[in-house]
Amino acid sequence: MKKKIGIILGSIILLIIIIFIIYKNINKDENINDNKLHIVTSFYPIYIMTLNITNGIENVEVSNMASEFSGCIHDYTLTTSDLKKFEEADIFVENGFGMESFSQKIIETYPEIKVIESGKQITDYIYEDEENINAHFWTSIDNYILQVKEISNELDKIDNTNIEKYKENENKYINKLEELKKEYNEKLKNIKETQVLSLNESFSYLLKFAGIDEILIQTDHEQNSLSAETIRNVINTMNEKNIKAIIIEQNDDEQNANTIANETGAKIYRLKDCMSGDNTLDSYINTMKENLETLVNM
Ligand SMILES: [Zn+2]
Repeated sequence: MKKKIGIILGSIILLIIIIFIIYKNINKDENINDNKLHIVTSFYPIYIMTLNITNGIENVEVSNMASEFSGCIHDYTLTTSDLKKFEEADIFVENGFGMESFSQKIIETYPEIKVIESGKQITDYIYEDEENINAHFWTSIDNYILQVKEISNELDKIDNTNIEKYKENENKYINKLEELKKEYNEKLKNIKETQVLSLNESFSYLLKFAGIDEILIQTDHEQNSLSAETIRNVINTMNEKNIKAIIIEQNDDEQNANTIANETGAKIYRLKDCMSGDNTLDSYINTMKENLETLVNM
């Protein structure tokens, strides 16, 4: 009798253990395979583009890798915790063209992730030197639209269950961007300063788009690195060409710009590189409107 009870008890315990293991595994599967498409973007403007294209689509989740970082991604160092953000990712959306120097590391660590290079459709490059393309494309609205289109097209291919929604969102966003372009064209007709000195390479595409000629001093966003000789030369050039506006980024150090301004009588204007914001769908549009006001009031 005791033996029988022992066998029954043993069986019950075994059954409980089996049920527990099965239950745990079901839950684990749900965690990994939650039927959501996980998209990770590299940095802020790419994040805002992707948010707009995926807006309101329930089974798509977008997160931004460098969300705490407000500088330019082109000199960003990938951290271990950044890499962790790709553990559940299906898609990585980047700017491309060397802006994310760390991409290779992500691709090597997670070879199954699909990569969307948003800058692929852009052809109107500005070169930094003979070999390198300035990849701060998004400050031109035309380029930005091409990036939105590329992301949307590639999402269509990867996730064809949501094609119609992606298309609808894309069209809606591009319409807003076309409105922004119209506002630029209208307001920039009577702009006073058509030549500027720029100490930040992020704005080359914005200035070109706005029809403003720039003398650019390549600073890698570190304008305090300018040598005394460079400053002397640029002061001469500005005086010769009668350039009265100096462009820097909102967060840039202004010491050299001040020196140049004092010697030339030029004024300093601060534009925004759109690399940070309030995470809303219209963040890029609103920042670009602020930039337009700055340009108009030069
Ligand atoms: Zn940069």
